[in-house]
Amino acid sequence: MPSGSGATGRNGGHLTAHAFRGYNWLEKIYGEEEAIRGLAIERYTVSEILKILHEHHSEARVDLVEGGRTVLFFTPEEYEKDKQDYAAAKAAGINLDDVEWLSKEEVEKASAKYGASYSAVRIPGNNLWPLKLVSVLYNLAQNASDRLSLSIHTKTPVTSITPVTSIAPAGSDSSRRWILNTPRGQISCSYVLHATNGYTSHLLPFMHGPNGIVPTRGQIIATRANTPAVLDHSGFIANEGFEYWFPRPQKDDSENELVIVGGGREATEGRGYEFYEVDDSVINPEVSEVLKRFLPVVFPGKFDNETEPEMEWTGIMGYTKSREPFVGPVVNPSDKSSFEAYRGQYISAGYTGHGMPRAFACAEAVARMIAADIKGEKWSAPEWFPEHYLTTKEVLK
Ligand SMILES: Cc1cc2nc3c(=O)[nH]c(=O)nc-3n(C[C@H](O)[C@H](O)[C@H](O)COP(=O)(O)OP(=O)(O)OC[C@H]3O[C@@H](n4cnc5c(N)ncnc54)[C@H](O)[C@@H]3O)c2cc1C
Repeated sequence: MPSGSGATGRNGGHLTAHAFRGYNWLEKIYGEEEAIRGLAIERYTVSEILKILHEHHSEARVDLVEGGRTVLFFTPEEYEKDKQDYAAAKAAGINLDDVEWLSKEEVEKASAKYGASYSAVRIPGNNLWPLKLVSVLYNLAQNASDRLSLSIHTKTPVTSITPVTSIAPAGSDSSRRWILNTPRGQISCSYVLHATNGYTSHLLPFMHGPNGIVPTRGQIIATRANTPAVLDHSGFIANEGFEYWFPRPQKDDSENELVIVGGGREATEGRGYEFYEVDDSVINPEVSEVLKRFLPVVFPGKFDNETEPEMEWTGIMGYTKSREPFVGPVVNPSDKSSFEAYRGQYISAGYTGHGMPRAFACAEAVARMIAADIKGEKWSAPEWFPEHYLTTKEVLK
């Protein structure tokens, strides 16, 4: 299921691994080895995508900006939390030589680059136009082999999945297990991969609710600064990751800079943080207000309060209770026998608003699981794959 129309086509454009952020939380819940893997999968995703883009000279086609991410600390608590994650990740042996801590004075001094008055940490990072990345990957996959037949069917939702045995249409291949029902007809197949993100529970009803994948609406604006070349072109995040922004590459340097800004869900605190919102055809005016006011406060004089966004949109993310995705064979945790009942169905979904540095590697892992199953081989996790992502980890132990 291609993701150009889903969250991937609608997010801000991060391609940045959390260098150390979240390490302590991961270690506390899953242990040191899994915490290391939890960060390794992000670095793996980023480096693999960059490798593809460089090998195929596609950097400009996706508006790739390499060079870093600046994390601004609005409060001493945010700074302290990141410092503790940094120290623990370093102690666990993660190489953080490319991380640079900046005092408030250093940030102020580099005013052309940052133009803000907060302490910060700078980590390796990139941003790009995600929908363009999907197009590049699709074209590469399509031309990868004469033996591969690949096509996208847009506006063709799968409305239900039924076992072939129960209603096999005349002439269908009896070796196939599943029928995908769509408004344009049926498709029979042996394997199904649920990469349906925030909408997963439509086809897998047991995934509805807090123990499954909760659709969550995110919102973005594209706004213009009041002068050209106001910010470093790498990405920024702040406010514990709630807000993030990317000045986009300009065709003409004399143009005022266009900046993509996302976040603002905290405006709905107490009213659900946009959880269980599935409609990406509308924007939330309360979130708009936070996004509009954000840059003028952080970069005084460079953005105007009165400037209306040039574009604004929403997209639906898939949140999980653990904040970690579900990857592997489909199994209902409250019914172990469902493992057999869903045979041939797999899932890779629930990235909790942090799929850009994870979805690609999870897709590789699950594709290898399916390939191993076809060949009758045993799949084993690559060293960068966190085993706590596995759907089968707890259920079938
Ligand atoms: C506004 C916003 C901001 C975000 N910010 C960040 C960020 O800062 N950092 C980060 O890492 N990530 C961020 N994300 C999340 C990131 O975009 C997602 O984690 C990632 O794109 C998920 O990819 P996916 O392929 O799993 O899902 P999607 O890209 O959502 O793709 C799912 C696809 O499944 C299709 N589908 C669903 N149901 C069916 C069905 N029944 N039949 C057929 N097709 C179906 C959909 O149409 C869609 O094409 C953000 C997302 C949004 C929307």
